[in-house]
Amino acid sequence: MRPEPTEETLSQSNLDAQEESALRLLEKALVKGEFGRAALVSSFGADSAVLLHMISRVKRDAPVLFVDTRMLFQETLEYQLELTEKFGLTDVRRITPDAEQVRRNDVFGRLHINDPDSCCALRKTAPLDAALEDFDAWITGRKRHQADTRADLKLIEQADGRIKLNPLVFWERPEIAGYFEKHDLPRHPLVHKGFRSIGCGPCTSPVADGEDERAGRWRGRDKTECGIHFENGKLVRTTVAA
Ligand code: SF4
Repeated sequence: MRPEPTEETLSQSNLDAQEESALRLLEKALVKGEFGRAALVSSFGADSAVLLHMISRVKRDAPVLFVDTRMLFQETLEYQLELTEKFGLTDVRRITPDAEQVRRNDVFGRLHINDPDSCCALRKTAPLDAALEDFDAWITGRKRHQADTRADLKLIEQADGRIKLNPLVFWERPEIAGYFEKHDLPRHPLVHKGFRSIGCGPCTSPVADGEDERAGRWRGRDKTECGIHFENGKLVRTTVAA
């Protein structure tokens, strides 16, 4: 008689299947070029090591765009260097805001207090838009379980004239944790302090048990995304003053 699979065996099989599926999509994008020129966009945040590690298994010289808003935690900058070296990634591109635009619009670094949408446009959206000019497709680490606003995300989307690939879109917390454990990946140092989604220092706080992972982003404000992503077909975007 066939033995009953244990809970542990089933969850391992589930992780293996999800992992295989994500790797195949990355191969299509980065090795076979099925979506044109493609890059990974990574925040080097709480879960970023998963996709970055997969990239190192598929094509370690693939372009990785790291948006450094100049408002990130020091821990994120150090984690970026650690993962890049550990995984042998050879084309991590640090994308920074235009210095002249920052001087004109946010010389004291306080725009995030009065007008966070403009701050995100200045420090994230505009620099990333410019960097993406060279690409037809980009890969993100977004997942449906992260927040209600991400519940309808698709594996492959088309937005703003580009293909957007979300290889981990159906992954839940157990698969993410399982991948970290299976491949012995280092955690972002702030994860141990209760940060579950990590963006800029002034706009990120720890989350409590039972909260959405992204509840700590722009806490207390009517804002849930930085403007880089489409959510449910709608782009949240603002522009930078000329
Ligand atoms: S997350 Fe905050 S500090 Fe970072 S770009 Fe957006 S508003 Fe500015």
